Amino acid sequence: MSDPIKVLTDTVRGPVITPPDPEYDDARSVYNAMHDRRPSAVVRCTDSADVMAVVAAGRESGLDLAIRGGGHSVPGYGTIDDGLVLDLSRMNSVQVDPVKRIARVGGGATLGDVDHATYPFGLAAPGGVVSTTGVAGLTLGGGIGYLTRSVGLTIDNLLSADVVLADGRQVTASDYQNEDLFWALRGGGGNFGVVTNFEFQLHEVGDVVGGPLFYNFDDARAVLECYRDYIARAPEQLGCFFGWQIAPDLPFIPRDRIGDLFCVLVTCWNGPHEEAEKVLKPLRDAAEVQTEQVGVVSFPDMNSAFDDLVPKGMQNYWKADFISELTDDAITAHIEHGAKTPHVSSSMHLHPINGAAQRVGPDETAFGHRDKQFSPVVVGIWSDPEDNEANIKWVKDYYDAIHPHSGSEGGYINFMSGDDDDRAQVNYGVNYDRLAAVKKTYDPENVFHVNQNIAPASG
Ligand SMILES: Cc1cc2nc3c(=O)[nH]c(=O)nc-3n(C[C@H](O)[C@H](O)[C@H](O)COP(=O)(O)OP(=O)(O)OC[C@H]3O[C@@H](n4cnc5c(N)ncnc54)[C@H](O)[C@@H]3O)c2cc1C
Repeated sequence: MSDPIKVLTDTVRGPVITPPDPEYDDARSVYNAMHDRRPSAVVRCTDSADVMAVVAAGRESGLDLAIRGGGHSVPGYGTIDDGLVLDLSRMNSVQVDPVKRIARVGGGATLGDVDHATYPFGLAAPGGVVSTTGVAGLTLGGGIGYLTRSVGLTIDNLLSADVVLADGRQVTASDYQNEDLFWALRGGGGNFGVVTNFEFQLHEVGDVVGGPLFYNFDDARAVLECYRDYIARAPEQLGCFFGWQIAPDLPFIPRDRIGDLFCVLVTCWNGPHEEAEKVLKPLRDAAEVQTEQVGVVSFPDMNSAFDDLVPKGMQNYWKADFISELTDDAITAHIEHGAKTPHVSSSMHLHPINGAAQRVGPDETAFGHRDKQFSPVVVGIWSDPEDNEANIKWVKDYYDAIHPHSGSEGGYINFMSGDDDDRAQVNYGVNYDRLAAVKKTYDPENVFHVNQNIAPASG
């Protein structure tokens, strides 16, 4: 083939950014600063035609293709050395149909883009807990967030997706066309093509009652036990996750407690405001709340409350499991390693995946871990690369201590690190073989391999 970069420069409407360009360093950077990679070109696509051109150039030249939605992948799947980066960040439009309660969302939108567009209509799509995260990667892996218990995972609210396939065609996948592809997209990651548009079912979400409750670290066992028991039966409009938190310098933190390690419950009640206190009371009673910032807040503000704690450009190393049961021994391990939380941006988050998420069967979508109770993730985030060894060790030691208690080999593909690529089979769990068969149909040459990869089925 002729020079793929030249072909792209002649074909696509968006900029084709190469090493000599002044914006190259900005264009090649991703959320996790550990991945300092140098692609041959970053192509900022403007429409499906651009996406088709980049996929064709990648396929025909043999250059590796990295697909970038929001660029948040901790393993850095949104960038690559010496390959092509297909960057969708310009394709971030969100159109809301308030009558049908549907949003059409570009493949490069962030969760914040969706919240911004849907909030004025009193509607929301379920996403995650940090607004700068890309809709695409989050959705294709499953999507766990504040609304999971009430309306399910993000994929449970996906109605259709437009996908540019490895052979260059764009197709629509839904319950009515290309059903096998639609099934695989809902949990199978970026393995099957480039999603240029998602269509989501929206739900009534306006202002919620939410925010963090801070407890003394010494009360962690009582708080974890209470959270474990209550979140299994609490009204489903309550979103809540447990985490460790070194107190940042924020107005609601007592001055003499800045820098102390707390355990927190981050709450988000999307029910009648007058019922909030009753619903939150069991959590408030778990132990004495030291400080808090619970109040009426817009859903976009709730979803972006932690953005500043986890900015782009930090070092990131994470590890994750799914767990069937949070045992007392597991709690002991959490407390032992949570006590060593090394940085204000680092934590362990324990997300519930019960309620509406469990009313979908494990084989109804590609997200197979519907029987699990929690999705824990040990989040290592710090600023100085000199500290990499110590911080990675904290994450690994923590994970090694809790993993034997998880009752499951697999973890959430969106919370994996690059050195977890060999866990793909257990992460996709009961659905792996079917995913491999769909992969063979839609991407037999594994053009889309820069991801938690599913090898095309053989034979
Ligand atoms: C600070 C932070 C907070 C997070 N919070 C949550 C949370 O609350 N809930 C949750 O579920 N997850 C959460 N995650 C994990 C998040 O879901 C994953 O990191 C996800 O992969 C991010 O998607 P992205 O589009 O931003 O990433 P990218 O790096 O752009 O892409 C990630 C993967 O998706 C593929 N991909 C991206 N766009 C497309 C596309 N348009 N078509 C096909 N494939 C595509 C890429 O090839 C890659 O394999 C969080 C991550 C971070 C860093």
